[in-house]
Amino acid sequence: MKTILIVNDDGIASPGLKAAAEAVRGLGEVVVVAPAMQQSGVGRSISLFSPVGITRSSALEVEAYSIAGTPADAVIIGIHGILKKRPDLLVSGINMGENMSSEATTSGTVGAALEGASQGVPAVAISLHTGREFSFDEGEGLDFATAQEVLGKLAGQVLGRGLPEGVDLLNVNVPYGVEKPRIRITRLARRMYTTRVQERSDPRGRTYYWIDGDAIYDAEEGTDVHAVRVEECVSITPLKLDLTSMESLREMRRFRDIL
Ligand code: MN
Repeated sequence: MKTILIVNDDGIASPGLKAAAEAVRGLGEVVVVAPAMQQSGVGRSISLFSPVGITRSSALEVEAYSIAGTPADAVIIGIHGILKKRPDLLVSGINMGENMSSEATTSGTVGAALEGASQGVPAVAISLHTGREFSFDEGEGLDFATAQEVLGKLAGQVLGRGLPEGVDLLNVNVPYGVEKPRIRITRLARRMYTTRVQERSDPRGRTYYWIDGDAIYDAEEGTDVHAVRVEECVSITPLKLDLTSMESLREMRRFRDIL
């Protein structure tokens, strides 16, 4: 019997988490560990200076726990605290909102998958492009059917044959409202949002900021951003943990030689 750990960053109440559990239920024993609260944008952060509480949750039809921690905490506690063994697959998602480009390291959804991969578990991060018309509270109305179908098939493939050599995790993004979308194997775009800050004042006149930005649509062909936002295809980007710039190692000698 295969074991599948499911985590997310939108929190235990997210309909995307429920959708993920439904999508892979037939493939093995499923255990869900998810943050109690919305944790989008926390990347791969872990709680080192505070304890992480855990509560059994009846929100899902499978064994599920809610934790007072981050998505990467959920992975670590799921593997080392609850399962006490490595699962055969980690699924992170289904996130409400796409996670693409090198900005994906900001994502709690991708961050959890990176943590899983780092723990030696093949991981799939999956996100649904929703546009900004959906707020996180309105997720109940979202249609996850296409993302569920993609996830079920990919999970079966990873469980059966593993990931290709050199791949630690898959970052999958599904366009919204497209019936039978085509599939593209992609690379990360450079950016998916522009960066902007909105400066405001609190009631006592002190300045605060909202970090904000607009979606980028003009990414190069072959990238995840182009595939999902321009071509309305599913993007599957194979990722690896090693961020080392191998091609620069020779040129880097000049940095060594000045020291
Ligand atoms: Mn999220």
